[in-house]
Amino acid sequence: MNGKLKNNEKQRAAERKTAWSLAEFEVAPQEGHVRFHDLSLPDALMRGIHRLGFEFCSPIQAKTLPITLDGVDCIGKAQTGTGKTAAFLITIITDLLENPLDEQFDREPRALILAPTRELALQIADDARHLTYFTDLNVASLVGGMYYDTQIKQVKGKIDIVVATPGRLIDFMRKREVFLDQIETLVIDEADRMLDMGFIPDVKSIERATPTPENRQTLMFSATFSYDVLNLANRWTRDPVTIEIEPEVKSSDAVEQKIFLVSADEKYGLLKHFLQHDDIERVMIFANRRDLVKTLSGRLKRDGFDCLMLSGEVPQAKRTSTLEKFKRGDLRILVATDVAGRGIHVDGVSHVVNFTLPEDAEDYVHRIGRTGRAGAKGKSISFACEDDSFQIPALEKYMGAKIVLEYPPEEWLDKQKGG
Ligand code: AMP
Repeated sequence: MNGKLKNNEKQRAAERKTAWSLAEFEVAPQEGHVRFHDLSLPDALMRGIHRLGFEFCSPIQAKTLPITLDGVDCIGKAQTGTGKTAAFLITIITDLLENPLDEQFDREPRALILAPTRELALQIADDARHLTYFTDLNVASLVGGMYYDTQIKQVKGKIDIVVATPGRLIDFMRKREVFLDQIETLVIDEADRMLDMGFIPDVKSIERATPTPENRQTLMFSATFSYDVLNLANRWTRDPVTIEIEPEVKSSDAVEQKIFLVSADEKYGLLKHFLQHDDIERVMIFANRRDLVKTLSGRLKRDGFDCLMLSGEVPQAKRTSTLEKFKRGDLRILVATDVAGRGIHVDGVSHVVNFTLPEDAEDYVHRIGRTGRAGAKGKSISFACEDDSFQIPALEKYMGAKIVLEYPPEEWLDKQKGG
Protein backbone atom coordinates (compact mmCIF):
# COMPACT_ATOMS: atom_id res chain seq x y z
CA MET A 1 0.00 0.00 0.00
CA ASN A 2 2.70 2.42 1.06
CA GLY A 3 4.90 1.50 -1.87
CA LYS A 4 2.01 2.18 -4.19
CA LEU A 5 1.35 5.51 -2.56
CA LYS A 6 4.97 6.52 -2.92
CA ASN A 7 4.99 5.55 -6.55
CA ASN A 8 1.94 7.66 -7.15
CA GLU A 9 3.51 10.60 -5.41
CA LYS A 10 6.66 10.11 -7.44
CA GLN A 11 4.71 9.97 -10.64
CA ARG A 12 2.74 13.02 -9.60
CA ALA A 13 5.90 14.96 -8.83
CA ALA A 14 7.30 14.02 -12.24
CA GLU A 15 4.09 14.95 -14.05
CA ARG A 16 3.90 18.26 -12.21
CA LYS A 17 7.38 19.16 -13.40
CA THR A 18 6.48 18.83 -17.06
CA ALA A 19 5.39 22.01 -18.78
CA TRP A 20 1.74 22.36 -19.74
CA SER A 21 -0.41 25.06 -21.21
CA LEU A 22 -4.12 25.33 -21.80
CA ALA A 23 -3.44 25.10 -25.52
CA GLU A 24 -2.94 21.35 -24.97
CA PHE A 25 -6.54 21.02 -23.83
CA GLU A 26 -8.38 21.68 -27.01
CA VAL A 27 -12.13 21.23 -27.12
CA ALA A 28 -14.03 22.76 -29.98
CA PRO A 29 -17.26 24.51 -28.89
CA GLN A 30 -20.31 22.39 -29.50
CA GLU A 31 -23.87 23.53 -29.53
CA GLY A 32 -25.83 22.58 -26.44
CA HIS A 33 -22.67 21.84 -24.47
CA VAL A 34 -20.75 23.89 -21.94
CA ARG A 35 -16.98 23.49 -21.99
CA PHE A 36 -14.88 23.83 -18.87
CA HIS A 37 -13.04 26.47 -20.89
CA ASP A 38 -16.16 28.64 -20.80
CA LEU A 39 -16.02 28.92 -17.01
CA SER A 40 -12.68 30.71 -16.51
CA LEU A 41 -11.26 28.05 -14.24
CA PRO A 42 -7.67 28.26 -12.95
CA ASP A 43 -5.11 26.57 -15.22
CA ALA A 44 -3.93 24.10 -12.58
CA LEU A 45 -7.50 22.86 -12.24
CA MET A 46 -8.02 22.75 -16.01
CA ARG A 47 -4.93 20.58 -16.24
CA GLY A 48 -6.43 18.14 -13.71
CA ILE A 49 -9.70 18.08 -15.65
CA HIS A 50 -7.78 17.43 -18.86
CA ARG A 51 -5.87 14.60 -17.21
CA LEU A 52 -9.20 13.01 -16.24
CA GLY A 53 -10.29 13.15 -19.86
CA PHE A 54 -13.39 15.30 -19.29
CA GLU A 55 -14.31 17.52 -22.21
CA PHE A 56 -17.72 19.01 -21.65
CA CYS A 57 -19.61 19.73 -18.47
CA SER A 58 -22.24 17.17 -17.58
CA PRO A 59 -25.75 18.70 -17.33
CA ILE A 60 -25.55 19.22 -13.58
CA GLN A 61 -22.13 20.84 -13.91
CA ALA A 62 -23.36 23.08 -16.71
CA LYS A 63 -26.28 24.19 -14.56
CA THR A 64 -24.61 24.53 -11.17
CA LEU A 65 -21.11 25.80 -11.91
CA PRO A 66 -22.04 29.23 -13.32
CA ILE A 67 -24.01 29.81 -10.10
CA THR A 68 -21.80 28.18 -7.50
CA LEU A 69 -18.59 29.68 -8.90
CA ASP A 70 -20.17 33.03 -7.99
CA GLY A 71 -20.42 31.90 -4.37
CA VAL A 72 -24.18 31.33 -4.42
CA ASP A 73 -25.73 28.49 -2.38
CA CYS A 74 -27.27 25.61 -4.22
CA ILE A 75 -29.57 22.69 -3.57
CA GLY A 76 -29.15 20.02 -6.20
CA LYS A 77 -31.43 17.11 -6.87
CA ALA A 78 -29.14 14.63 -8.53
CA GLN A 79 -28.08 11.03 -8.22
CA THR A 80 -24.63 9.52 -8.48
CA GLY A 81 -23.46 9.19 -12.02
CA THR A 82 -24.52 12.70 -12.99
CA GLY A 83 -21.12 14.25 -12.24
CA LYS A 84 -22.32 16.10 -9.15
CA THR A 85 -19.07 15.35 -7.30
CA ALA A 86 -16.97 17.21 -9.83
CA ALA A 87 -19.53 20.02 -9.78
CA PHE A 88 -18.96 20.79 -6.12
CA LEU A 89 -15.25 19.96 -6.17
CA ILE A 90 -14.58 22.33 -9.07
CA THR A 91 -16.42 25.05 -7.15
CA ILE A 92 -14.32 24.48 -4.05
CA ILE A 93 -10.98 24.14 -5.81
CA THR A 94 -11.54 27.29 -7.86
CA ASP A 95 -12.37 29.25 -4.73
CA LEU A 96 -9.32 27.95 -2.87
CA LEU A 97 -6.95 28.65 -5.74
CA GLU A 98 -8.32 32.09 -6.47
CA ASN A 99 -8.36 33.20 -2.84
CA PRO A 100 -5.20 31.90 -1.21
CA LEU A 101 -4.84 32.69 2.49
CA ASP A 102 -1.85 34.20 4.24
CA GLU A 103 0.54 31.51 5.46
CA GLN A 104 -0.25 32.10 9.13
CA PHE A 105 -3.91 31.13 8.67
CA ASP A 106 -3.10 28.42 6.29
CA ARG A 107 -3.60 25.40 8.55
CA GLU A 108 -7.26 24.75 9.13
CA PRO A 109 -9.52 23.25 6.47
CA ARG A 110 -11.42 25.68 4.28
CA ALA A 111 -13.84 23.26 2.67
CA LEU A 112 -15.79 20.41 4.21
CA ILE A 113 -17.68 17.70 2.37
CA LEU A 114 -19.93 15.39 4.35
CA ALA A 115 -21.04 12.07 2.91
CA PRO A 116 -23.13 9.35 4.56
CA THR A 117 -20.95 6.35 3.79
CA ARG A 118 -17.29 5.53 3.94
CA GLU A 119 -17.27 4.35 0.31
CA LEU A 120 -18.80 7.55 -0.97
CA ALA A 121 -16.49 9.71 1.15
CA LEU A 122 -13.43 7.84 -0.10
CA GLN A 123 -14.64 8.12 -3.67
CA ILE A 124 -15.13 11.87 -3.28
CA ALA A 125 -11.68 12.24 -1.70
CA ASP A 126 -10.19 10.29 -4.57
CA ASP A 127 -11.92 12.53 -7.13
CA ALA A 128 -10.67 15.55 -5.16
CA ARG A 129 -7.10 14.27 -5.28
CA HIS A 130 -7.38 13.85 -9.04
CA LEU A 131 -8.77 17.33 -9.55
CA THR A 132 -6.13 18.89 -7.27
CA TYR A 133 -3.37 16.81 -8.87
CA PHE A 134 -1.54 19.84 -10.25
CA THR A 135 -2.20 22.15 -7.29
CA ASP A 136 -0.69 22.45 -3.80
CA LEU A 137 -4.04 21.82 -2.16
CA ASN A 138 -4.29 18.97 0.33
CA VAL A 139 -7.22 16.67 0.82
CA ALA A 140 -7.91 14.64 3.98
CA SER A 141 -10.45 11.86 4.29
CA LEU A 142 -11.85 11.14 7.74
CA VAL A 143 -14.02 8.06 7.64
CA GLY A 144 -15.15 5.50 10.14
CA GLY A 145 -13.84 1.99 10.44
CA MET A 146 -10.28 2.54 9.39
CA TYR A 147 -6.82 3.77 10.35
CA TYR A 148 -7.38 6.43 12.97
CA ASP A 149 -3.66 7.11 13.22
CA THR A 150 -3.13 7.66 9.51
CA GLN A 151 -6.10 9.99 9.48
CA ILE A 152 -4.70 11.95 12.42
CA LYS A 153 -1.43 12.33 10.55
CA GLN A 154 -3.30 13.72 7.56
CA VAL A 155 -4.86 16.51 9.60
CA LYS A 156 -1.61 17.40 11.37
CA GLY A 157 -0.31 18.95 8.18
CA LYS A 158 -1.80 21.77 6.15
CA ILE A 159 -5.21 20.69 5.05
CA ASP A 160 -7.53 22.47 2.62
CA ILE A 161 -10.36 20.08 1.90
CA VAL A 162 -11.79 17.57 4.37
CA VAL A 163 -14.07 14.80 3.18
CA ALA A 164 -15.72 13.01 6.07
CA THR A 165 -18.46 10.80 7.34
CA PRO A 166 -20.30 12.54 10.21
CA GLY A 167 -19.47 10.15 13.06
CA ARG A 168 -15.74 10.13 12.47
CA LEU A 169 -15.59 13.86 12.01
CA ILE A 170 -17.32 14.37 15.36
CA ASP A 171 -14.64 12.16 16.97
CA PHE A 172 -11.96 14.37 15.49
CA MET A 173 -13.72 17.53 16.59
CA ARG A 174 -14.09 16.23 20.16
CA LYS A 175 -10.41 15.36 20.28
CA ARG A 176 -9.68 18.86 18.98
CA GLU A 177 -7.82 17.43 16.01
CA VAL A 178 -9.99 19.33 13.54
CA PHE A 179 -11.44 22.82 13.73
CA LEU A 180 -14.18 23.97 11.43
CA ASP A 181 -14.29 27.70 12.10
CA GLN A 182 -12.43 28.51 8.86
CA ILE A 183 -14.80 26.55 6.62
CA GLU A 184 -15.79 28.61 3.61
CA THR A 185 -17.68 25.95 1.70
CA LEU A 186 -19.81 23.22 3.24
CA VAL A 187 -21.10 20.42 1.05
CA ILE A 188 -23.68 17.96 2.30
CA ASP A 189 -23.89 15.09 -0.14
CA GLU A 190 -26.73 12.56 -0.28
CA ALA A 191 -28.72 14.44 2.34
CA ASP A 192 -31.63 12.01 2.01
CA ARG A 193 -29.39 9.11 2.95
CA MET A 194 -27.99 11.08 5.87
CA LEU A 195 -31.55 11.33 7.09
CA ASP A 196 -32.33 7.66 6.47
CA MET A 197 -29.20 6.60 8.30
CA GLY A 198 -29.95 8.75 11.33
CA PHE A 199 -26.95 11.05 10.92
CA ILE A 200 -28.81 14.32 11.12
CA PRO A 201 -28.05 15.03 14.81
CA ASP A 202 -24.33 14.63 14.00
CA VAL A 203 -24.63 16.77 10.89
CA LYS A 204 -26.38 19.43 12.95
CA SER A 205 -23.51 19.56 15.46
CA ILE A 206 -21.02 19.74 12.62
CA GLU A 207 -22.94 22.49 10.86
CA ARG A 208 -22.98 24.51 14.10
CA ALA A 209 -19.20 24.26 14.33
CA THR A 210 -18.78 25.93 10.93
CA PRO A 211 -19.37 29.65 10.28
CA THR A 212 -23.02 30.70 9.95
CA PRO A 213 -24.83 30.26 6.60
CA GLU A 214 -24.25 33.96 5.83
CA ASN A 215 -20.53 33.44 6.21
CA ARG A 216 -20.05 30.33 4.18
CA GLN A 217 -21.23 28.81 0.92
CA THR A 218 -23.45 25.77 1.34
CA LEU A 219 -24.15 23.19 -1.32
CA MET A 220 -26.59 20.38 -0.64
CA PHE A 221 -27.25 17.38 -2.84
CA SER A 222 -29.94 14.79 -2.53
CA ALA A 223 -31.48 12.20 -4.85
CA THR A 224 -34.92 13.07 -3.49
CA PHE A 225 -36.37 16.28 -2.13
CA SER A 226 -38.50 15.10 0.77
CA TYR A 227 -40.10 17.51 3.20
CA ASP A 228 -37.33 16.79 5.71
CA VAL A 229 -34.54 17.40 3.21
CA LEU A 230 -36.04 20.71 2.15
CA ASN A 231 -36.52 21.68 5.75
CA LEU A 232 -32.82 21.14 6.46
CA ALA A 233 -31.88 22.95 3.26
CA ASN A 234 -33.97 25.86 4.41
CA ARG A 235 -32.03 26.04 7.66
CA TRP A 236 -28.57 25.52 6.30
CA THR A 237 -28.54 27.49 3.06
CA ARG A 238 -29.05 31.16 2.25
CA ASP A 239 -31.03 32.20 -0.86
CA PRO A 240 -30.17 28.95 -2.59
CA VAL A 241 -30.73 28.18 -6.25
CA THR A 242 -32.45 24.85 -6.75
CA ILE A 243 -31.29 22.62 -9.56
CA GLU A 244 -32.86 19.36 -10.59
CA ILE A 245 -31.36 16.82 -12.90
CA GLU A 246 -33.48 13.96 -14.05
CA PRO A 247 -31.93 10.57 -13.35
CA GLU A 248 -30.50 8.75 -16.34
CA VAL A 249 -32.71 6.13 -17.92
CA LYS A 250 -33.68 3.61 -15.35
CA SER A 251 -36.06 1.31 -17.09
CA SER A 252 -36.27 3.36 -20.20
CA ASP A 253 -38.46 2.67 -23.17
CA ALA A 254 -35.59 3.85 -25.31
CA VAL A 255 -33.50 0.83 -24.40
CA GLU A 256 -34.58 -2.72 -25.16
CA GLN A 257 -33.00 -5.01 -22.60
CA LYS A 258 -32.37 -8.72 -22.82
CA ILE A 259 -30.33 -11.12 -20.76
CA PHE A 260 -29.07 -14.27 -22.45
CA LEU A 261 -28.51 -17.24 -20.20
CA VAL A 262 -25.35 -18.98 -21.30
CA SER A 263 -22.40 -20.87 -19.90
CA ALA A 264 -19.14 -18.96 -19.44
CA ASP A 265 -17.56 -20.60 -22.48
CA GLU A 266 -20.49 -19.69 -24.72
CA LYS A 267 -20.23 -15.96 -24.12
CA TYR A 268 -17.55 -15.15 -26.66
CA GLY A 269 -19.26 -17.05 -29.47
CA LEU A 270 -22.51 -15.26 -28.75
CA LEU A 271 -20.74 -11.91 -28.73
CA LYS A 272 -19.30 -12.68 -32.15
CA HIS A 273 -22.72 -13.62 -33.39
CA PHE A 274 -24.10 -10.22 -32.42
CA LEU A 275 -21.13 -8.34 -33.81
CA GLN A 276 -21.56 -10.11 -37.14
CA HIS A 277 -25.31 -10.32 -37.43
CA ASP A 278 -26.98 -7.56 -35.46
CA ASP A 279 -27.44 -4.18 -37.00
CA ILE A 280 -24.75 -2.50 -34.92
CA GLU A 281 -23.86 1.10 -35.53
CA ARG A 282 -21.62 1.46 -32.52
CA VAL A 283 -21.29 -0.85 -29.53
CA MET A 284 -19.84 -0.55 -26.06
CA ILE A 285 -18.92 -3.87 -24.51
CA PHE A 286 -18.58 -3.82 -20.75
CA ALA A 287 -16.71 -6.27 -18.59
CA ASN A 288 -16.14 -6.09 -14.85
CA ARG A 289 -12.38 -6.16 -14.65
CA ARG A 290 -9.46 -4.59 -16.46
CA ASP A 291 -7.82 -7.93 -17.25
CA LEU A 292 -11.05 -9.22 -18.77
CA VAL A 293 -11.39 -6.09 -20.90
CA LYS A 294 -7.84 -6.57 -22.11
CA THR A 295 -8.27 -10.25 -22.94
CA LEU A 296 -11.57 -9.66 -24.68
CA SER A 297 -10.30 -6.78 -26.76
CA GLY A 298 -7.18 -8.76 -27.73
CA ARG A 299 -9.26 -11.72 -28.77
CA LEU A 300 -11.64 -9.64 -30.85
CA LYS A 301 -8.71 -8.02 -32.60
CA ARG A 302 -7.16 -11.40 -33.41
CA ASP A 303 -10.50 -12.40 -34.88
CA GLY A 304 -10.42 -9.43 -37.20
CA PHE A 305 -12.72 -7.00 -35.36
CA ASP A 306 -11.59 -3.41 -35.31
CA CYS A 307 -11.89 -2.60 -31.62
CA LEU A 308 -10.13 -0.64 -28.90
CA MET A 309 -10.33 -0.71 -25.14
CA LEU A 310 -10.82 1.84 -22.42
CA SER A 311 -9.70 1.03 -18.92
CA GLY A 312 -7.71 2.57 -16.12
CA GLU A 313 -4.50 1.03 -17.40
CA VAL A 314 -4.72 2.74 -20.79
CA PRO A 315 -2.64 5.96 -20.77
CA GLN A 316 -4.69 9.15 -20.85
CA ALA A 317 -3.58 10.28 -24.29
CA LYS A 318 -4.57 6.93 -25.76
CA ARG A 319 -7.91 7.04 -23.95
CA THR A 320 -8.66 10.45 -25.38
CA SER A 321 -7.76 9.43 -28.93
CA THR A 322 -9.79 6.20 -28.63
CA LEU A 323 -12.81 8.14 -27.47
CA GLU A 324 -12.40 10.64 -30.28
CA LYS A 325 -12.30 7.83 -32.83
CA PHE A 326 -15.39 6.29 -31.33
CA LYS A 327 -17.22 9.62 -31.36
CA ARG A 328 -16.27 10.34 -34.96
CA GLY A 329 -17.59 6.94 -35.96
CA ASP A 330 -14.18 5.68 -37.06
CA LEU A 331 -14.34 2.97 -34.43
CA ARG A 332 -17.33 0.68 -34.06
CA ILE A 333 -16.41 -1.46 -31.09
CA LEU A 334 -15.25 -0.20 -27.72
CA VAL A 335 -14.54 -2.53 -24.81
CA ALA A 336 -14.59 -0.81 -21.43
CA THR A 337 -14.61 -1.14 -17.67
CA ASP A 338 -17.34 0.61 -15.71
CA VAL A 339 -15.07 3.32 -14.42
CA ALA A 340 -13.65 4.12 -17.85
CA GLY A 341 -17.06 3.93 -19.50
CA ARG A 342 -19.00 6.05 -17.05
CA GLY A 343 -18.49 9.56 -18.21
CA ILE A 344 -18.88 8.72 -21.87
CA HIS A 345 -21.66 10.54 -23.59
CA VAL A 346 -21.68 9.57 -27.23
CA ASP A 347 -24.78 9.67 -29.36
CA GLY A 348 -25.31 6.86 -31.82
CA VAL A 349 -24.28 3.97 -29.57
CA SER A 350 -26.80 1.45 -30.87
CA HIS A 351 -25.83 -1.42 -28.56
CA VAL A 352 -24.43 -2.06 -25.13
CA VAL A 353 -23.19 -5.54 -24.36
CA ASN A 354 -22.69 -6.61 -20.77
CA PHE A 355 -20.17 -9.39 -21.22
CA THR A 356 -20.35 -9.79 -17.46
CA LEU A 357 -23.15 -8.42 -15.32
CA PRO A 358 -21.95 -5.64 -13.02
CA GLU A 359 -21.89 -6.30 -9.31
CA ASP A 360 -23.65 -3.04 -8.65
CA ALA A 361 -27.12 -2.35 -10.09
CA GLU A 362 -26.24 1.31 -10.45
CA ASP A 363 -23.43 0.36 -12.83
CA TYR A 364 -25.95 -1.56 -14.93
CA VAL A 365 -28.05 1.56 -15.22
CA HIS A 366 -25.01 3.59 -16.24
CA ARG A 367 -24.01 1.01 -18.80
CA ILE A 368 -27.37 0.80 -20.53
CA GLY A 369 -27.64 4.58 -20.36
CA ARG A 370 -24.77 4.76 -22.89
CA THR A 371 -27.30 3.73 -25.54
CA GLY A 372 -30.79 4.98 -26.37
CA ARG A 373 -29.57 8.57 -26.19
CA ALA A 374 -30.79 11.65 -27.96
CA GLY A 375 -34.12 10.18 -28.95
CA ALA A 376 -32.62 7.08 -30.59
CA LYS A 377 -33.53 3.49 -29.76
CA GLY A 378 -30.89 1.34 -28.13
CA LYS A 379 -30.35 -2.31 -27.29
CA SER A 380 -28.77 -3.73 -24.19
CA ILE A 381 -27.64 -7.33 -24.41
CA SER A 382 -26.35 -9.03 -21.29
CA PHE A 383 -24.71 -12.40 -20.92
CA ALA A 384 -25.35 -14.19 -17.67
CA CYS A 385 -23.56 -17.41 -16.84
CA GLU A 386 -23.46 -19.31 -13.56
CA ASP A 387 -21.21 -16.59 -12.11
CA ASP A 388 -23.46 -13.61 -12.88
CA SER A 389 -27.02 -15.00 -12.87
CA PHE A 390 -27.45 -14.51 -9.15
CA GLN A 391 -27.28 -10.72 -9.71
CA ILE A 392 -30.41 -10.68 -11.86
CA PRO A 393 -32.99 -10.37 -9.03
CA ALA A 394 -31.09 -7.41 -7.53
CA LEU A 395 -30.93 -5.72 -10.94
CA GLU A 396 -34.64 -6.21 -11.51
CA LYS A 397 -35.42 -4.90 -8.05
CA TYR A 398 -33.33 -1.78 -8.64
CA MET A 399 -34.86 -1.21 -12.07
CA GLY A 400 -38.33 -1.90 -10.73
CA ALA A 401 -39.04 -4.10 -13.74
CA LYS A 402 -38.46 -7.57 -15.07
CA ILE A 403 -35.78 -8.00 -17.71
CA VAL A 404 -36.41 -10.46 -20.57
CA LEU A 405 -34.39 -13.64 -20.09
CA GLU A 406 -33.65 -15.89 -23.07
CA TYR A 407 -31.63 -18.95 -23.98
CA PRO A 408 -29.87 -18.24 -27.29
CA PRO A 409 -30.42 -20.74 -30.11
CA GLU A 410 -27.58 -23.26 -30.63
CA GLU A 411 -26.58 -21.81 -33.99
CA TRP A 412 -25.69 -18.45 -32.43
CA LEU A 413 -23.11 -19.94 -30.14
CA ASP A 414 -20.24 -20.91 -32.43
CA LYS A 415 -19.09 -23.42 -29.85
CA GLN A 416 -15.90 -24.72 -31.45
CA LYS A 417 -14.33 -21.29 -31.38
CA GLY A 418 -15.97 -20.12 -28.16
CA GLY A 419 -14.48 -20.47 -24.68
P1 AMP B 1 -20.56 11.29 -9.92
O1 AMP B 1 -21.99 11.52 -10.28
O2 AMP B 1 -19.96 12.48 -9.30
O3 AMP B 1 -20.39 10.04 -9.11
O4 AMP B 1 -19.73 11.08 -11.29
C1 AMP B 1 -19.94 9.99 -12.14
C2 AMP B 1 -18.76 9.74 -13.06
O5 AMP B 1 -18.70 10.71 -14.09
C3 AMP B 1 -17.40 9.78 -12.40
O6 AMP B 1 -16.70 8.63 -12.82
C4 AMP B 1 -16.73 11.03 -12.92
O7 AMP B 1 -15.35 10.85 -13.03
C5 AMP B 1 -17.38 11.18 -14.28
N1 AMP B 1 -17.50 12.58 -14.71
C6 AMP B 1 -17.85 13.64 -13.97
N2 AMP B 1 -17.90 14.76 -14.72
C7 AMP B 1 -17.58 14.40 -15.97
C8 AMP B 1 -17.48 15.11 -17.20
N3 AMP B 1 -17.72 16.41 -17.29
N4 AMP B 1 -17.11 14.43 -18.30
C9 AMP B 1 -16.87 13.12 -18.22
N5 AMP B 1 -16.97 12.38 -17.09
C10 AMP B 1 -17.32 13.00 -15.98
